[in-house]
Amino acid sequence: MTAISSIYVYVEPRCAVVDYDDVAAHVRQNLPGVAVSLRGRILEDSVAGDSAAARQLATALAGAKVRKLGEPAPRRQKSLPGEVEYELRRLANPDGQAYGLLYDAGAMLEVYRGFLPEMEARRQDTLHVIFTNQLIGNWDAADKRYHARTVICSSPSIISLSGLVEAPAREPGYYLARRSSEALGFQEEAKMELARFFAGDYLTFDDSRMTEAAKGYVMAAASYRMTGEAFCADPDCGLFNAHWQRELIRAQLGGPYEYCEPHSRVFRQCKTTQEAPWR
Ligand SMILES: [Zn+2]
Repeated sequence: MTAISSIYVYVEPRCAVVDYDDVAAHVRQNLPGVAVSLRGRILEDSVAGDSAAARQLATALAGAKVRKLGEPAPRRQKSLPGEVEYELRRLANPDGQAYGLLYDAGAMLEVYRGFLPEMEARRQDTLHVIFTNQLIGNWDAADKRYHARTVICSSPSIISLSGLVEAPAREPGYYLARRSSEALGFQEEAKMELARFFAGDYLTFDDSRMTEAAKGYVMAAASYRMTGEAFCADPDCGLFNAHWQRELIRAQLGGPYEYCEPHSRVFRQCKTTQEAPWR
């Protein structure tokens, strides 16, 4: 097992409902002895006041964007001028609400790595967790399309707040009802009614439950660093890999405990031992 000494959490300011102090307190409580600190906005703060660096970053971000869901984004993809301007505006306006564009996970990891302090980035015992409200996806060679992810466990780890809302699917009934209402040409009011009917079954962007969900995914990133496994097969454990919104809500907000006993044990020993307590 790999021990962790420090976790740095980089906040996404564009999602006001996530209480990052609460997230950090949860991680401290579950990983005794690990120093957990909040940091600012990794991209925006790194290029603030430097227009050349901002343009370079905007170009890299535009190059990381997934343009076609059914095609793997080419490495070193050429960025289009309109996309670079969009990224520049977004970097300059961290209070804006823009979210939900899909970016290639590998390309985004490269972008983020460029801004991590070099000494920290090389340390196995230091974990960086970056929150973003854009969607982050991997190319799935098996079914030949991109899939949006809730979390990318790597160095750094990325948690997508849009991914928490969009990646695990909603109830089949929701999609069925939405398709029928669209087919029947229902107006906005009827669609709102539909949203109210299914409200509570899935996370939304302004959902107060986002903080609870964020906690479990930071712990998944930590678990991955410690044991090589991010997720757990127990549907009541906060590390359960939810494919459905109802599973996410059960794992993060319901159930008899926050983490299963084997994982609680792993967490308690995260700093004190190099031995695997798991098997
Ligand atoms: Zn577990």
